[in-house]
Amino acid sequence: MAEGAPRYDSVIVRFGSEIGVKSKPVRLRYERLIARHVREALRARGIPFEAIEHAMGRLYVKTPEAEEAARAITRVFGVSSASPAVSTSSDLEDIISVGVGLAKASLRPGATFAVRCRRVGEHPYTSMDVCRLLGARILSELAHLGLKVDLEAPEHVIYVEVREGDAFVFTDTYEGVGGYPLGVQGKVVALLSSGIDSPVACWLAIRRGCSVVPVHFDLRPFTDDRALEKALALARVLAGWSLGRLKRMYVVPHGPALAEVKAKCPEKLTCVLCKRLMLRVAGRLASAEGADAVVTGDAIGEQASQTLKNLRAIDSALQGLPVLRPLLCFDKAETVKLAMRIGTYEISAQPDAGCSAAPKRPTTAARLEDVLEAEEALDIETLVEEALSKAEQVRIRP
Ligand code: ATP
Ligand code: MG
Repeated sequence: MAEGAPRYDSVIVRFGSEIGVKSKPVRLRYERLIARHVREALRARGIPFEAIEHAMGRLYVKTPEAEEAARAITRVFGVSSASPAVSTSSDLEDIISVGVGLAKASLRPGATFAVRCRRVGEHPYTSMDVCRLLGARILSELAHLGLKVDLEAPEHVIYVEVREGDAFVFTDTYEGVGGYPLGVQGKVVALLSSGIDSPVACWLAIRRGCSVVPVHFDLRPFTDDRALEKALALARVLAGWSLGRLKRMYVVPHGPALAEVKAKCPEKLTCVLCKRLMLRVAGRLASAEGADAVVTGDAIGEQASQTLKNLRAIDSALQGLPVLRPLLCFDKAETVKLAMRIGTYEISAQPDAGCSAAPKRPTTAARLEDVLEAEEALDIETLVEEALSKAEQVRIRP
């Protein structure tokens, strides 16, 4: 901010609209959790703060590093937006002096602006009075800038929020990630590969309040070491988003099962059979974890194994648990954009060997009877048991 401008000392934190429509006890529980996560997010980044006040369906954070704090807070799930603000008393003269100071720091010559005010409590003035009087003072004190009021489509807005004896003045609002507070919707096991899609699917599940336990299927010798290294690095990024609550990942050796599939089953069914085995193992881990669903990064038609018909043939391998596919209807460009925003893209985009077991001409329309017939050549239960007995839990640190 410009020299001599009033110093930001607070952050106004708004909750997602979906939280506001919950019953009062649920809403309060969620809001308190978000307050706790805001505290953890600030501590994790070493941003000092004095107090977090919960009032009028918002949080008010007192901090000398309000802009950095607001940015950190936008990464807390359940937060719809955050604004660095200057706090003052609800005395009209105080509000006007801060408002003029902020206008001086942020308005360019010739700019159009508006003042908007929200007010809660008893005051000797109305919100309209604040808008009119502050607007007039900005025009007169900054007359040399040739500013204009435009209430319809202003280039700049000076916001004033008056809350009982306090007032907050701000100009910027940073968009938050939204969603539900971490963990309030229960647990899922998520298939995390080294690609672009599955980390985004995991992130979407986390944003929706699911505790995610990632499972990576280690395809060596059909891939190289880089795939596992990438999956671990991706899990660390996800751990950062969950304030360290995502602490571990299962790594399941899948090479031996895949070798059996290659040796004994029709080549064009390889990917469908491989995925069915993954789901079976994931389902067993989900039961052990008390998880209620398995998450994958499939998107309709993105790969041969993700045509609707193949997804159908794959799903029947998992009984008793839903397979959640948050990206099912995403375009790749949307997934990539989100991956960049959440910080997984750079890792996913690094090269790895891919899967050398994938056939040149995989089926795009596996028939369930063919799949079941092919599986007769496999000792599925032994393959699943073997994989589970060799599965490792790896610690993940953000
Ligand atoms: P991604 O970009 O997530 O790797 P993809 O588009 O390359 O996915 P597939 O390889 O067909 O597609 O995988 C579909 C989904 O199956 C993935 O999103 C992921 O959830 C799961 N999956 C695939 N390979 C693995 C693996 N080695 N370990 C864990 N999950 C996997
Ligand atoms: Mg992919």
